[in-house]
Amino acid sequence: MMETGKWDLLRSLPAVDAVMRDPSGRTLAARHGRAPATAAVRETLGGLRRRIVAGERPEVSESTVAEAAARLLSGRGLRRVVNATGVVLHTNLGRSVLSERAALAAYDAATGYSNLEYDLQSGARGSRYDHAVPLLKALTGAEDALVVNNCAGATLLALAAVVESKGSEAPEVIVSRGQLIEIGGGFRIPEVLALSGARLREVGTTNRTRLSDYENAVNENTGAVLWVHPSNFETVGFTESVGIRDLSSLGLPVISDVGSGALTSVGEEPRVQAILRDGADLAIFSGDKLLGGPQAGIAVGASRWVSAMRRHPLARALRADKLCLAALEATLDSYLQGTAEQDLPTLRMIRTPISEIEGRATNLAEDLKSNLPNLEIDVTPSVARSGGGTLPTYEIHSFAVRLGGTDPEALAAELRSSNPPVIGRVREGRLWLDVRTLLPGEEEAVIGALRDAHG
Ligand SMILES: *Cc1c(COP(=O)(O)O)cnc(C)c1O
Repeated sequence: MMETGKWDLLRSLPAVDAVMRDPSGRTLAARHGRAPATAAVRETLGGLRRRIVAGERPEVSESTVAEAAARLLSGRGLRRVVNATGVVLHTNLGRSVLSERAALAAYDAATGYSNLEYDLQSGARGSRYDHAVPLLKALTGAEDALVVNNCAGATLLALAAVVESKGSEAPEVIVSRGQLIEIGGGFRIPEVLALSGARLREVGTTNRTRLSDYENAVNENTGAVLWVHPSNFETVGFTESVGIRDLSSLGLPVISDVGSGALTSVGEEPRVQAILRDGADLAIFSGDKLLGGPQAGIAVGASRWVSAMRRHPLARALRADKLCLAALEATLDSYLQGTAEQDLPTLRMIRTPISEIEGRATNLAEDLKSNLPNLEIDVTPSVARSGGGTLPTYEIHSFAVRLGGTDPEALAAELRSSNPPVIGRVREGRLWLDVRTLLPGEEEAVIGALRDAHG
């Protein structure tokens, strides 16, 4: 038997039409279109009905229903979007798209229990730090490896491990002035160094640093040399810098923040294997940049330093979760199997031949023309980017479908509010949809979004 209070409240729920007639409902329809607005109101009312039956007493006026529907439409939280920007590792759009294998591995780990910290052989407690280590060792030739939450975290942890093992108050870490960089999102090398408890010892100048600059800075309180890949900008002209091989001759631990973590050759990006071969004690890189996996920070190198990182109390605060580890193992396995170029969307997008890209753009433009006779639609060569703070000057030839004959900013806004949202670029008074970053089948979503917006 339902209590009378519940019945009364259920009966007082407004009808869909009543919400749509209310001024708040009319605003909703004007902003999002009548059909999506009505659907969202219906969904909101369904949710309210379930909450009332469960014993809650939510507010049920027309305007609160319309407000809840508006939240549903504009802020569904984290949702899938279509990336038509041509920026492959778009940081704001989530960087790497996982391979199907990696996504399935994460799904498996998510929907069941796992041996995350359990040793299947002994039946005793295991360590989450053991996962992915054999794969990383096989791929990079490193003695040991550690996976944490992200590259920024791994860099901080490596420096903290240097401080801890040096044992002195604040050991110095030598960094070239040309490598005191900001990655974005507030990750600045001097600040990360300070956070770790180390003291920054700057050497050289912005454009030129020599081995002798490092040599002159070494003293008994020096803990390490930090080499940072200036991943998101380039210095040209009168420049000089010191490579890992020369730095390793100093007899100090050399930590390298490599950033993008290319395991195969992409543009001029340093490969992790080469960094280690040149003598770095630690190479630190991201899981979701050119590696093409989940967000993660990976440190590979000498056992001594990797285990110092693992033992440090900060490791617990930076540890990777099981979904990340599952997806990372599957991603790394693609490299070991030699199928990375086919499996990983990031590498696939960067490598797709230009003729195939042109064909996709032409087909999309034809489909759009037949659906949207009022717009000016053509195909144009464009420049795609790897993005995500990698290869700043590396241009990837691409093609875009260009939409004109209407206000491009308004059209871009309409596409952003479609489901799924489609993200393009406004350039030269038109909306550009780069096809290099469209995943297979996403043309349908683009056509649907444009038909809704302009059909
Ligand atoms: C991107 C980058 C980082 C930060 O990596 P996250 O995984 O985003 O934390 C650090 N250092 C370099 C050189 C980078 O390019």
